[in-house]
Amino acid sequence: MAQSLTRIHLQVFLILLLCFSAIGYAGYLALRDMQWSSYRERVLQTSQETAARINRLLTQQRQALEKTTRLPAVVMALQRGSSVARSHKEDEIESQLPGVVSVQLMSHNNSGGLSSAEALDPACLDYVQRMAKTNTPAVPEFHATGTPAAHYDLAAPIMNENRSLAGYLLARFSSAPLQAILDQSLPPHAYMELQQPVSGAETQAVLTAGEPSDTVTVSSELGNSHWTLIYQPAETPSLILSGSRKIYFAIILSAFVIITIVLFRLYRKTLKAVRHDIHSLVRMFRDLREGSVRVEYPMALREFAEIFDYLRDRGQKLVKEKEKLRDMGLMDHLSQLGNRRHFETRLQELFDASKASGLSSVLMIDMDHFKAVNDKHGHDAGDALIVGFANALRKVVRQTDVLARLGGDEFCIIYSYAPLEKATVLVERLRKQLPREILLTKGVMHQLRWTGGLSAMSDKDTKPDDVLWRADQALLQAKEAGRNVTKVSDPVAGLPAKKKIIVG
Ligand code: GH3
Ligand code: MG
Repeated sequence: MAQSLTRIHLQVFLILLLCFSAIGYAGYLALRDMQWSSYRERVLQTSQETAARINRLLTQQRQALEKTTRLPAVVMALQRGSSVARSHKEDEIESQLPGVVSVQLMSHNNSGGLSSAEALDPACLDYVQRMAKTNTPAVPEFHATGTPAAHYDLAAPIMNENRSLAGYLLARFSSAPLQAILDQSLPPHAYMELQQPVSGAETQAVLTAGEPSDTVTVSSELGNSHWTLIYQPAETPSLILSGSRKIYFAIILSAFVIITIVLFRLYRKTLKAVRHDIHSLVRMFRDLREGSVRVEYPMALREFAEIFDYLRDRGQKLVKEKEKLRDMGLMDHLSQLGNRRHFETRLQELFDASKASGLSSVLMIDMDHFKAVNDKHGHDAGDALIVGFANALRKVVRQTDVLARLGGDEFCIIYSYAPLEKATVLVERLRKQLPREILLTKGVMHQLRWTGGLSAMSDKDTKPDDVLWRADQALLQAKEAGRNVTKVSDPVAGLPAKKKIIVG
């Protein structure tokens, strides 16, 4: 199928467009991924650093509390001290522990109950009882409602000399140091929140810093409490196409536009060059028909120049040969092939050369029912058939062979220096290559049928007519055998009585 230059260029353009889009999209995804991972890393880092500072503070407070519970004076005050002595001890501990708002010494009786010198907040009592029941280290808890909560509680068990539970030291810490950590860690316009679980999955904000925003939210668990730190950074990652990236995008886009323009110009240039060369080719054929081929034809494409030179050389040769034949009165004017005189001259030459250079073969051709074409479509249609058949023969006969019209619808080919066997192969090929039908006049197609007689020169021949006579006899027999076939007459075996038949 014929290819279209426009189509090829369009395909190249589409492939380029696809490649650029794929590269652009992959680049965009990679960039976005990089941006998001570095953003997420930064956000997590801020959150985790803050959580670590809170953890450090809680650990210090717990350690200070536990150290106090181990003091013999504290154990003594809890076990044997009067309520006044206990209260006095509590005041003393309060003044010694940094960040503590108040402390309470709570004794643990044998029935598992707890008692204190002062009336206890029910939430605080519940906190210590939960701890006593589960026998787990206490974690700090906010018990006062409201955000921000002013203080949180932390309890530590007090053991007696026998290493059994004597009671608890409950300390109430101020939230101010925690709040200070949040405020100091908070980047401008960001938001932090300390959450404490309330019941089930519900949580309550106990401390906040900054204003909540609708950016991303990350949470960090605090290892030594049930609290969770919530962090919302001030900003989301910047747009992909911002800042210097706009310039990169513009460069890629410009590259694509430039490639598109270059491709389009290349397409126009190629098309122009091809059109130009085809025009030159048409001009050459016109010149050839008029019998004058120029020395030079301008060519735009180097790729075509070689084949064009070859065609021009062949054309010039053909014109010269035609001129020569015409000058010598050897050309048949209707078919533009050699005439009988030319044929006889060439046959004589080849016969004379046969001893030195090899034997040649002769194929006589006669069209079938040619008269019927004249009768049915007129003499001009018959002439058109002769010209059409001659042109078809010229296309398939080798340059080295002799092709002539002997007269009427009779043609002849001399296969120069081709013995019978080789000539038989050539005739078989000729049958296959010749067209099945020929256009006579507008709309009138003629089913081409022809009969052939083939023979070869023999060493015993005394004159060129001998081979001609044998070929003629073979032709006659082929006609009698029903036409549209070629009969072969072997010069050694004699007349073509039982000779090979080549059928089309
Ligand atoms: P067959 O199959 O036996 O060959 O029958 P045919 O009709 O082809 O008859 P044949 O070859 O014997 O006759 C050739 C005819 O060609 C005879 C003549 O009327 C016609 N003729 C000869 N020269 C020309 C010519 O230059 N132009 C045209 N149009 N007809 C020609
Ligand atoms: Mg005929």
